Amino acid sequence: MNRLRQKLVIGNWKMNGSYRSGQALLQSLVHAGIATVVAPPFVYLSQAAALTAGSRVAVAAQDVAAEKGYGAFTGEVSARMLAELGVGHVIVGHSERRQYYGETDAQVATKVLRVVEEGMVPVLCVGESLAQREAGQALAVVSAQLLAVVEHCGVGILSTAVIAYEPVWAIGTGRTATPDDAQSMHASLRAVVAARDPGIAAGLRILYGGSVKADNAASLFAMPDIDGALVGGASLLANDFQAICRAAGL
Ligand code: PEP
Repeated sequence: MNRLRQKLVIGNWKMNGSYRSGQALLQSLVHAGIATVVAPPFVYLSQAAALTAGSRVAVAAQDVAAEKGYGAFTGEVSARMLAELGVGHVIVGHSERRQYYGETDAQVATKVLRVVEEGMVPVLCVGESLAQREAGQALAVVSAQLLAVVEHCGVGILSTAVIAYEPVWAIGTGRTATPDDAQSMHASLRAVVAARDPGIAAGLRILYGGSVKADNAASLFAMPDIDGALVGGASLLANDFQAICRAAGL
């Protein structure tokens, strides 16, 4: 294991789970004593915070408003509100937000800043589409998404951030990047950061996301620059998610 970087596995429930099924899932994780992070839908965050209090399970949010504090922004949830609830991590710039809701790099950068201002850890998602990969643009696209945040917030912001490399073509498709392909992208992203601040790059956790399952997690985690996973579908299945966390040694 890399001595600088503790592995991290985050479950992104997306718009899934009922009040009851979420409760059962959280209880099983708490009971198993696994140190992990789960991101339920906003409406269940309060329930999740109560159920996981005093346990090794931490709660994350799936998104956050770009606006600060409180205000007349119907439907939005601010970083301040999440922090008050005890949320520790916030997923920002997930490809589904970028793709379906038109989130731009500039909005993503502002959200990252809001999260850090409130003392939480942003989980910044970056990733290329299949067309971009096939056109040989994967690294250029992903670096540009990362550098948009660095330019807006300064490289120092990455000392309190986590990156999730999630190739769009691998999300929810059952198609995973090979460990070697993922490793190569993670190493390149770390080099992009190292060119600006080697110390921050060395400590920066870069998670892989995209159809991580119980049977492929260990081979991904064996790679030197893969520091854990952002897990969608498999995070809804208690046994599978626990197996992924165990593969990370958590
Ligand atoms: C995700 O949505 O972040 C994700 C990686 O989903 P899945 O694991 O289902 O591919």
